[in-house]
This record gives sequence, C-alpha cells and structure tokens, in this order.
Amino acid sequence: MTTARPPLIELAGVNKHFGELHVLQDIDLVVGRGEVVVVIGPSGSGKSTLCRAINRLETVESGRISIDGRPMPQEGRALAALRAEVGMVFQSFNLFAHRTVLDNVTLAQTKVRRRSRADAERRGLDLLDRVGLAALADRYPAQLSGGQQQRVAIARALAMDPKALLFDEPTSALDPETITEVLDVMRGLARDGMTMVVVTHEMGFARASADRVVFMADGRIVEDRPPEEFFAAPRSARARDFLAKIL
Ligand code: ADP
Ligand code: MG
Repeated sequence: MTTARPPLIELAGVNKHFGELHVLQDIDLVVGRGEVVVVIGPSGSGKSTLCRAINRLETVESGRISIDGRPMPQEGRALAALRAEVGMVFQSFNLFAHRTVLDNVTLAQTKVRRRSRADAERRGLDLLDRVGLAALADRYPAQLSGGQQQRVAIARALAMDPKALLFDEPTSALDPETITEVLDVMRGLARDGMTMVVVTHEMGFARASADRVVFMADGRIVEDRPPEEFFAAPRSARARDFLAKIL
C-alpha cells in the first residue's frame, strides 16, 4: 500500500523462518512519517516478530528494512544509533527494577545520546510530566501500578527522541482500570504526529487513532486498509473470523 507521506519505516520482501515455521512471509510495509499503523491478528501470526525485525532485535533472511531511507545496519555502533531512532514499548514494561523512575528515563540519554546528567534529568522530568508521573520520579518501578510503569516505559522511549515508536501489546498485561491511562498517552502521541506501529487488541484505539489497520495471519499481511473500511467490511475470511471473536 502506498502512502502520500514520506516513508519512515520501509519493509520490502522480508522473510524469516523459525526452523520450519515461515513466520514472516514476503512482508511489504511502508509507514509514513506521522502515520499510526495498528497491527492486529491472531496469536502466533507474527506480529511481535515483525516489530522485533523492524528494530533488528530479530534478524531476517531476505528483504530490505530501512528507517528514514537508511538500511538497518547489521551490527555495531551504526545499529545502536539507528535503533535509538525507533523506540520500543513492550507488554512487560522492561523497566530497570533497581533504578528510580527518573533514572529509568535518564540512563539511556546519558549513555546513548551522551547528554549531561542535568540535561537528561530535565528532559526526563518533562516527559514524566507529559505522561502524568512527575510526582513519582523518586519511586521504584515496583511501587507503581502496571499502568504507571507502562507510562514510564513510554517516557523512557520518548527520551531518546525517536523518529518512531513501536508498541507490542502495551496494554495486554494491565488491569482493565489502568488500560485507559496508557491508551490516553498513546492517543496524545498519535495526535501530536508521532509515527507509531502499534500491535494491540484495543479496537477502540485502532478506530480512533489508526491511519491504517494491518491484519496479519500466518506470517502474512492479509489486509492493509484504513480502519473505517477494515472494520466496516473486512475482505478476508480470516479477518472476519478474527473480528467476530474479539468484538
Ligand atoms: P504474535 O506476536 O502474532 O503472537 P509471534 O511473532 O510472537 O506472534 O510468533 C509467531 C510464531 O513464531 C509463533 O508460532 C511463535 O511460537 C514463533 N516464535 C516466536 N519467536 C520464536 C523463537 N524465538 N523461536 C522459535 N519460534 C518462535
Ligand atoms: Mg506477540
């Protein structure tokens, strides 16, 4: 599918196996600058692997992956630099348990972005404020609710000034009452023009914030369409089945 916006994330002809399992099959995907793409599909369809491949947390066997026109480097410093441009938010938060909330949002800034401690803390506090958590800067992750921890994880990703953010089921591990606070932050980012790839089962978010819905099944992109079209009339039997189960 083509997009009018300049491409920021591009995958072309991407393939990957886990042993016999062809987990990514001829994936073509272009995410334009400022675009929000929601990825949905049954468990095991390759959604997480797709996210991880974009960030090169997984290698792929064939195809091209580029970020802002530059191919993803194989390794080393160039890889670390390009990876910093694409933040990732996981289901399990992955915060540093023995560091304060503020440390969690400043450490990578000083290490990867080489900011001074003072600059990193200033930026970190701004971002904690943006996700509504400035008052908890001195706490430790275990003292926070799941929704608060996930908001810290989002602030931490933003602290690197990424060009895009990948979310892999960011609300799946949360209690229902804290899901909204995380989705609110994500909706705000979408409104502000952040480029986002979001794997989620939150169809309300998809309807309200996605520019496109990508439906995956068995390692393939089966549909890639605006949410209003997709939800009104999914073309594939796989998508109709899937929606019937989750809606
Ligand atoms: P989804 O996120 O859509 O649920 P995944 O990308 O996690 O799907 O996984 C797709 C398929 O690849 C699943 O069948 C899963 O069991 C398999 N898989 C994922 N990671 C690995 C791995 N590291 N080694 C072997 N198989 C894997
Ligand atoms: Mg997954």
